[in-house]
Amino acid sequence: VLNAAMTDFVVNAPPQPVAAVAGVTAVFPIRRIFCVGRNYADHVKEMGGEKGEPVFFTKPADAIVANGAAIPYALNTSNLHYEAELVLALSKGGTHIAEADARSHIYGYAVGCDITRRDRQAEAKQAGAPWDVAKAFDQSAPLSPIMPAAECGHVARGRIWLSVNEETRQDADISQMIWSVPEIIAHLSRSFELQPGDLIFTGTPAGVGPLGPGDRVAAGVDGLAELRFSVIARS
Ligand code: MN
Repeated sequence: VLNAAMTDFVVNAPPQPVAAVAGVTAVFPIRRIFCVGRNYADHVKEMGGEKGEPVFFTKPADAIVANGAAIPYALNTSNLHYEAELVLALSKGGTHIAEADARSHIYGYAVGCDITRRDRQAEAKQAGAPWDVAKAFDQSAPLSPIMPAAECGHVARGRIWLSVNEETRQDADISQMIWSVPEIIAHLSRSFELQPGDLIFTGTPAGVGPLGPGDRVAAGVDGLAELRFSVIARS
């Protein structure tokens, strides 16, 4: 079905979303974007200390923004927030993946930003409504080039940070995640059949805050390619 000729579609076929891979011209085809929320205790606390397990939500695959892009300030918000996150890129799928086997499903690692309409999220939480409008909007997922695990090894610890206009706003360690990388894959695969091409945003540490037009954002995780993007006024 995916290889059907263009003439088989009744409207223009959307492009396959892709992510860059560090050091090569071939790209990573994105199937789905899964995200973990409330995965660092300090961030749970700064958001008002909701109790309970981390949560899953999704973003559309075409929310990905290439490294270095300028993103127009999002529609329908006056409180757009950054959230720096370690991102997993899967090369192998499955259901009921065992924690001990989970890392063998990872192609590589990247640094992503889970851009959030914090005002819309607060309203959704208040109303007990879904987070889609807060999380799953256009250009809400800037992503660094993916570093293959074959080159950088598997990521279990190391600094995760984000700066706005060269001022550090988030500074934590991957080892502080409530659900570890293998636990995230195991949990997720009990609800969804994972597939090659899936990305998983693993949650953000404390220090989230607002973005505005003119802001230049950089974010990193030790050993991975750095993420950079900027926010511009919507014309
Ligand atoms: Mn997040």
